[in-house]
Amino acid sequence: MRYFSTRGKAETAGFAAAALAGLAPDGGLFVPEEIPPYPAAVRSSLGTMDYRDIAFETIKPWVSPDIPEAVLEEMVYSAYPFSAPLVEAADRQVLELFHGPTAAFKDFGARFMARSFSYLRRGEDKPLRILVATSGDTGGAVADGFFGVEGISVTVLYPKGRVSPLQERQIAGLGGNVSALAVEGSFDDCQRMVKAALGDAELKKRLELSSANSINVSRLIPQAAYYSAAAGRALAGRTDPGGEASPRTRPRHHGEQGGCRVQKGQAITLVVPSGNFGNLTAGIYAWKMGAPVRRFVAATNINRTVPDYLESGDYRVRPSQATISNAMDVGAPSNFERMAAHLSWTEMKDAILGAAVSDEETRETIRSVHRRAGYFLDPHSSVGWAAADKLLNRGLISGPLGILSTAHPAKFAETVEPLTGPVPVPPSLAKAMERSPQTRSIPAELSALLDSL
Ligand SMILES: *Cc1c(COP(=O)(O)O)cnc(C)c1O
Repeated sequence: MRYFSTRGKAETAGFAAAALAGLAPDGGLFVPEEIPPYPAAVRSSLGTMDYRDIAFETIKPWVSPDIPEAVLEEMVYSAYPFSAPLVEAADRQVLELFHGPTAAFKDFGARFMARSFSYLRRGEDKPLRILVATSGDTGGAVADGFFGVEGISVTVLYPKGRVSPLQERQIAGLGGNVSALAVEGSFDDCQRMVKAALGDAELKKRLELSSANSINVSRLIPQAAYYSAAAGRALAGRTDPGGEASPRTRPRHHGEQGGCRVQKGQAITLVVPSGNFGNLTAGIYAWKMGAPVRRFVAATNINRTVPDYLESGDYRVRPSQATISNAMDVGAPSNFERMAAHLSWTEMKDAILGAAVSDEETRETIRSVHRRAGYFLDPHSSVGWAAADKLLNRGLISGPLGILSTAHPAKFAETVEPLTGPVPVPPSLAKAMERSPQTRSIPAELSALLDSL
């Protein structure tokens, strides 16, 4: 597979070069020259295949020939001891993406990225340093994904005092090859410092550097697999049992009616709570590969750049506004450039419906879904649920419906519990809470970052 830059001023690159570089040299994002369709035999078996086998078949053409099939198979099996169950809740389905070690969907991308970097860097003696700026979830997933990987170390920059105690322990509690810097500033400061460090000529002589945000193709591609798995199961009329980590206080009551349940032979509409739009871009890749998705819903909080674009055709970025679904507080979504490289406005409008949701609606939805169905939503997933409600009420969507749940509600207990009462804590989060964070505070200046590397 060859990748070209969305800005068109850089040479094409293979998977290895595109993944290790992150950003194209002209400042654009790497996109594939063509989107590889699933072989017919895979496409027709998506409903019954094991998650790891779907991940293998999904990723294979995107990394060929840089990662041989036998290596990829091993990577996928070690990266995904967990999967993405499609469970029933109230009158619809939830695609639970929080069964990984840091309880957010970012584990799917980060764990594959770590393994592919480790393989692609084999035999190099200069160690690689990954810099990552985080507002919360990405830092934990990248730290966990790369923890203990030989020849690679990670430095996570996060805004001091602005991540939750649990997130700080996920970022700074591992130690070893992962170090954490609490920056006396905002997330934007962290991101600016990382960008500046990546461009620093002196530092480049001393260290091999890369970054791990969602513009990296190696984080995006593995996420396509859970769309294909969910769409395949829905078309086969199947859902999964939620298991122990499913955040519910009572199982679904049989006989409960719902017009949005999966039905054999009907393609599912998938609702994606979105910020930087990496997740939805992966969904579009799955759909173009042949996953039987009927339609997507782009659900945002009040940072509604993309829903407004879908409605008007006018793309206008704006400063981000703070909400309770803070991983989606993005006014200039970095992956939009990628979506626009594949789809015109009219094509995008046909494939994706947009809806934006306020904090008040988000809270009310957490409360009412728990009251009606005994199911806990985190604030981001609640934005998805509420966006679907809006479109259902306007008659714009119908048929089987799946809400992507991007994080476990226990990760945002301070917002959820006042609305629902105590949220059950999955074992991985309980374990993270026991760690003690090892972190260093630095001022929000490039020189302070350079001194600490
Ligand atoms: C990162 C994140 C999102 C937003 O995903 P994008 O790919 O940036 O659109 C949504 N919910 C949670 C919990 C996240 O961590």
